[in-house]
Amino acid sequence: MAPHRNTHYAVKNISGTSANKCWCGNWIKHWQNAARSRRLTCSVVPCNRFAEVGAHVQIDDGRFYGHWYIVPMCRAHNIHHNYETMYIDRRVELIPANVAATCQRSSWWL
Ligand SMILES: [Zn+2]
Ligand SMILES: [Zn+2]
Repeated sequence: MAPHRNTHYAVKNISGTSANKCWCGNWIKHWQNAARSRRLTCSVVPCNRFAEVGAHVQIDDGRFYGHWYIVPMCRAHNIHHNYETMYIDRRVELIPANVAATCQRSSWWL
């Protein structure tokens, strides 16, 4: 069965986020720190490539519009002219990109 909104997170890439920095060093580490996971496989279904980057995405169902999340992705999926809706494995945690709510807080590291 093809992935769809009821079985997967539907997301879109957000462009123009390269200036957005966090305390983890890079966004794939941000995702790993927050998810407490060493996963380095692209979270897009179906894709099993190496996840080199933490991609900024928005959920594409309208309800959470405006919130930014980080998920692991390969370089092929994290391209800023990629406007396609992508489907993310539900087992992958969507980690907030908002550093004030995550790695900027000292308590987040405990
Ligand atoms: Zn971080
Ligand atoms: Zn991929």
